[in-house]
Amino acid sequence: MPADIKIECPKCGWEPDGGAYWACTCGHTWNTFETAARCPACGKQWKDTQCIGWRGGCDRMSPHIDWYKGLDDWLDEELKSVKTSSETLKS
Ligand SMILES: [Zn+2]
Ligand SMILES: [Zn+2]
Repeated sequence: MPADIKIECPKCGWEPDGGAYWACTCGHTWNTFETAARCPACGKQWKDTQCIGWRGGCDRMSPHIDWYKGLDDWLDEELKSVKTSSETLKS
């Protein structure tokens, strides 16, 4: 994972401050960004992550992956380097 990845709500730009604000259906509360949206208590993998309204967010749900800013750029770079190396092999 590259260091320049920022985590923020894709809808309002709210940045999680490291608090344990996400509650699982099993009753466990934790910081979902520490575990890539997987509940550490029961192992449930959450696809969507809610923005925390009472901490200044917008309360809307977004796909967990969309919260990682810079990940698309990083993926693009990775794909480009893969492409470049396979082209180098061909020639
Ligand atoms: Zn759980
Ligand atoms: Zn938000």
